[in-house]
Formats: sequence, structure tokens, C-alpha cells
Amino acid sequence: MQTRLARNAGFCAGVRRAVKIAEEAAEEGGRWYSLGPLVHNDAVVDRLKEKGIIPINRLEEIQVSEDAGVIIRSHGVPPEIIEQARERGLGIKDATCPLVKRVHEIVASLRGEGYEIVVFGDANHPEVQAIIGWCNHQAQVIASIEEACQLQVVNKLGVVSQTTKDNEEFYAIVKAILPLAKEIRVFNTICSATRKRQQAAREISSGADLILVLGDPKSSNTATLARECQNTGVKTLQIRDASEIPIDCLQEVSTVAITAGASTPDWIIKEVLDRMTEFEEKSQQEPEQEAINEQNISGEEETTDAAVGAAETVDQPISEEEATSEPVAEEEEAVSEPAAEEEAVSESAAEEEAVSESPAKDESGSTEELFAKMEAEMADFETPSRGDIIKGTVIQVQDDEVMVDVGGKSEGIIPLREMSLKDIESCKDLVNVGDEIEVMVVKWDDDGTTLLSKKKVDNQKILNKLEEDFNADSIIEGTVTGTVKGGLLVDVGMTAFLPASHVEDGYVRDLEQYIGRNLQFKIIEFNRNKRRGSQVVISRKELVAEEKRRLKKEFWETVEEGQTRPGRVKRIVDYGAFIDLGGFEGLLHVSEMEHRRVEHPSDILNEGDELDVYILALDRERERVSLSRKKLLKSPWEIAEEKYSEGDIVEGTVVRIAPFGAFVELDPGVDGLVHISQMADYRVEKPEDVVTVNERIKIKIISIDPEQKRIGLSIRQAQEEEEAYEVQQYLDEQEDDEDF
Ligand code: SF4
Repeated sequence: MQTRLARNAGFCAGVRRAVKIAEEAAEEGGRWYSLGPLVHNDAVVDRLKEKGIIPINRLEEIQVSEDAGVIIRSHGVPPEIIEQARERGLGIKDATCPLVKRVHEIVASLRGEGYEIVVFGDANHPEVQAIIGWCNHQAQVIASIEEACQLQVVNKLGVVSQTTKDNEEFYAIVKAILPLAKEIRVFNTICSATRKRQQAAREISSGADLILVLGDPKSSNTATLARECQNTGVKTLQIRDASEIPIDCLQEVSTVAITAGASTPDWIIKEVLDRMTEFEEKSQQEPEQEAINEQNISGEEETTDAAVGAAETVDQPISEEEATSEPVAEEEEAVSEPAAEEEAVSESAAEEEAVSESPAKDESGSTEELFAKMEAEMADFETPSRGDIIKGTVIQVQDDEVMVDVGGKSEGIIPLREMSLKDIESCKDLVNVGDEIEVMVVKWDDDGTTLLSKKKVDNQKILNKLEEDFNADSIIEGTVTGTVKGGLLVDVGMTAFLPASHVEDGYVRDLEQYIGRNLQFKIIEFNRNKRRGSQVVISRKELVAEEKRRLKKEFWETVEEGQTRPGRVKRIVDYGAFIDLGGFEGLLHVSEMEHRRVEHPSDILNEGDELDVYILALDRERERVSLSRKKLLKSPWEIAEEKYSEGDIVEGTVVRIAPFGAFVELDPGVDGLVHISQMADYRVEKPEDVVTVNERIKIKIISIDPEQKRIGLSIRQAQEEEEAYEVQQYLDEQEDDEDF
């Protein structure tokens, strides 16, 4: 015999939630009462009683005390009941299923808009009684098309359904009502838990000989499910638990399909499956034992091995000799064997079929394995609530969404916008099929789809880490992404605010220069706020000051006069420039900038320039450092020594005239003297007769003395050489003409 369990069976999300709320209340302590049985299942109610949850019928039954409270079951209650509980000072735990609550909201709103309300359902069912309570008990409840046809014609009609009703029936009712009002608003409030159980039951009923529907006779959804199963034409029995398994019926069937109503707990399903397994094993052992017994009786001379061999070799052909020598009874058995084989073949075909029909069924099809699978599923998965963070495996990735197996009976969807805190083009940029990821439940729909967010989990993780860093006063890293009024925006996993006054340990004029830089910070303010968004304010001020203190200490420990150090121009003043030496600032006086005279420091330096400086003098007591740039540059005379040689004819500018001659500047800082005797090839009375200040002239270098910083120059020799050169050139040209 083969057993199949429906993919969707047992506790629905709403009931599971209600039981969880009740169990948590019991753990909290106090006296808790459920108004009516928490679910329509005596076994569940009894278990809850053991934990201290007492079912009552009316609030008046509760003896009021500080620790007394009432649990509203998943069916919900009319609003006046909640009001009464409040007035009596009772604690309230509302386990009304969110889907039922939605119906309450719909009818309340319809009533407010002046609609007559029709509820398709059982008038005595607590869920329906609660629903009509939410529209001020001004609703008509109908249970059949006949009742629908008797409704009065009205102007405005709103139609809802008890959540556990059948869809087809609801559609038929709506069709019947349509002509009865000028305006009709229809809300299909039937829960998909019921529909899914019905669909899964239909799936496994194909090829089954018997359907067992597990559930309490009082459960409406179980009754609907059983009716649905009966409609498949397969023999259907509704049983409460394992004790009601119809063992006699099982003898005659080869495939049993099992399903369970939304108020049937997992342990009842397990018990039934266990019992079915026991029965299956027993029914397999009995024929084997009978065969062995028969072998022992008929073949006293055969060895035990031979008997076992015969039993194992099912399709061994029987020889004619053997066949004729066997007694008649044996012949009959031999004839019936091929039939048994056929049955075995068809059974395995049915098994394969079942595997493809129902994912809940594994390849062997044994109920034990089936249950192990289901148990693992149940152990791993509790219906997640909004805000829960759960693990899942990516099973499909599209550009705009990712499907995730979150271990339940349905998949969750992450839309692109919920994938990442950063802008991404496609979900494929982030995850692959098979990846295990953490997701947050944003919303669970009654159709079983769960809307998930990876972004929110990432955000929470980042917030948790930042909160930890804030509490521990840790240093964090981030990249400056932009400027805003009053400061900078920094990506620290999320966007943090860096006030302008906390960018450095002093005033910063240009904030733009920080954009794109990766820096270290400390969190100075951390506020989690779900509604307005969490806020993180960061600062570098303290870190910069600390670093400066460290570098300063290191600077004074290592600095010596005469060293050359790299620096950066921090600030320019009229008398010089302050140079940041990486921990300390030194003054580069204007007179130490160049060998020549510098009018203003800004003529040669800009803020931010990097340069090497010479440590000219240190005043450790007053913490002052004098710097020189000039010391590291070649003097004009050193340059002149390299550049000029005696005999060179060069140009220069007359800078000063003296009675004995004229001073001529060859390069800035390098002057030479043209003695009056070297000014012309005739006797010169006064130098002014030959040259004027600022005049550019050609001169010949006749002597160089770098040590004395003296250069002797001659205008006369320069002119003579030039004339000689011109004469020579003239002669050369004439020779060329004659040759020609
Ligand atoms: S059957 Fe649906 S509506 Fe009813 S409790 Fe379960 S989940 Fe909620």
C-alpha cells in the first residue's frame, strides 16, 4: 500500500500564529483564557489547557484580577467584546488572523459608505458572527444560492465571504445576487489556505483508492475540504486522528491520499502517518511469513537456503518438470504469481506518477521518509511574521526580481528595489541561483507569496554594526560622497552626515576637496528611527587632533637642525610661508626662499605646493622651527661657474655705473665688472660715454673668480672679436666667389 500526503495540509498560517500567541502568553505567566476554543480542534484545545490556556464562552466567566487576560482566537470577535474586555481591565492578546481582520475592515468601511452587506457563510460560525459585529450587526448572512435569491432588491450592496468557504460556491452566489442591486461591490475574502488545501487534495486524489481527511468534525474548513475530496469521486473519510483510521478499509486499497484541514496540528498528521507506516510494514511482513511457513510445511527435505532462494527469485521461470511434479496447490500459486508481478509493475508506475504529481512525495514513496521530510520542513519553518529575518536559498534570478526558497511551503519574492542599498541595474548583478541569503519578511500575502527584502537586512546589519561601533567608540571608515548645507555626506555603509566643523580640527574653507576621499571617522550621534530613517553623525575632529599630537611628538623626537624634510605650503603670509612638515609647522621666511631677492612669498609659492625644506634652526622650548629653501638651491655663483667660461661672449644688462667702469648682470645675482679700460679701443673719459643703465650689451668674459664672486668683462674685446669674425667671414665669402 502506498501513502501520499498532500503538499498543503494542516495548520494554516493564521492558526499557527494564534497557537504561537497563546503559547507565548502561557510562557509569560498570568491567567489566560481563550474566548471560545482557540481553534476548532479538541486535541489542540486540550494541549493548550495543559499549558494553562482555559477556553471560556463569555467574558463574565473570567474572575478579574491583575494577571487575568483574554486571547482572541483567529476567528476574531465583534468590537464590543474587545471593548468589554478593556472595561473589565483584562489583558488582551489579539490572535485574530490578519486575513479575518481584513474582512472586518472591509465590512466596517462598506457600512460607513451606506452599503447593505451580505456575508456568504454559516450564520452560527464565530468568524461570521465577528464579521457582522464589525458592521454593527447590520448584515445578512446567506449560506446558499436559494437564500441569495430571496434577498431584497437594494441600491448598494457589498458582498464578502467567510474565509473558509469554497470559491466556486461564492462565485455562484455572487452571480445570483448580481440582479438584486443597482450597485454591487464584491470582495473575495476566501483565504487561499483553504483553496490550496483543496487543490493539493485534488492533486493527490488522482489514482488514489481512498482519501483520509484529518480534522475535527467542528472545523468548517475541514468539512469544506472533505466535501471537495468527495467531489473527486474517490472514497473519502473524515477522521479526527490516528485512532479513527479505518484499518478494515486499508486492507482493500493500494493507494491512500492524506490531507488535513487548516485547524489540524502537525502532531496529528504525524501520528496518522506513523500508524499508516506500521500498517504498511505489517501487511508486507504477513505474506512473507505465510510464504516461509508454507515452504517449511511442503518442502521438509529442502534446505533452508533453498527455501530462501526460492522466495527471493520472484521471476525465476519454472521448468516443465518442476511444474508437473508440484502438487496442485503449488500450481495454483505458480499461476497467480505473474498476476502479482503485474500488480507490482503497475504499483511502481503509480509511484513514479505520484513523484511527478506531488513534490511532497519522495522517490521511494514510504510514509516514513515522507514524514521525515515533512518533519524537517516543519522544524525549519515557522510562518514568518512581518519584520522577521530568515535565511533562504535563491532559486530563480531575473533582472527585476529574485525568487527565494525560505523553507516554507511557498516561495518569497525580492523585487529589484528591495535588493540593495545601492542602485543596481539588475538582480543578476548581486545574486546567483543557489546562493544562501538573509532576507526580511516585508509582507505575507494570503496567496502564499511572501514579499521579502534583502536591502532591509543589509540596512539592519549595517545599523547594528554602526551602533556597536558607536557604543564602543570605534573608528570607522567611509567615503565622502558629496556636500550638503553645513557639511559633507559620507558613505559608511549608509549615508552619514559629517558637519563642516568636524571635518578637521580647525576651519575648512573648501569642503569640495574632500569628495571621493576615503577617511576615518568616529560616530558622535546614532539614532535609530524607523519612520524618519536612522541618523548617523560622524566626526574627524578628534581623530585629526589625535593624529596631529602623535605626529608632533614623533617630529620633535626625530627632527635635527640641518635635516632636509618634505613639506607642504599650509599658509602664506607677507613675511613668509608656514610649511606643514607632517606633524608640525615651520616658518620659511621670505629671505630664505631664494638666493635672489623675493618681493612677496606668493611670487614663487602657492598654498598646497609640496617642496623640500632645510631645517635651519630649532627652538625646542618655544616650539619654533625656522626653515630655508634657499639652502637647498644652488647659488647663482655656483650656477655661473658651471655655465660660463673665460673667453665666452655673452649678453648682459648694465645695472650700475661707477667712475671706474660698469656693472653688468649676466644672471639674477651674478654681476660682472667692465673696467673703464675695457670699454672701448680708445681712451674713455667716463663710462657713461659708452654705456647707459639697463642697456643690453655684448661682453667677453675675461676672468672668473667664483670664490671672490668676481667676473671680469670686456666690451672692447667682445667688439674686436666680433669685428675679426666679420672680416674673416667676408674673406671666406670672397674666396668662395673666386672658386665659383
Ligand atoms: S484559514 Fe486563512 S483566514 Fe482562516 S485562520 Fe487560516 S489563514 Fe486565517
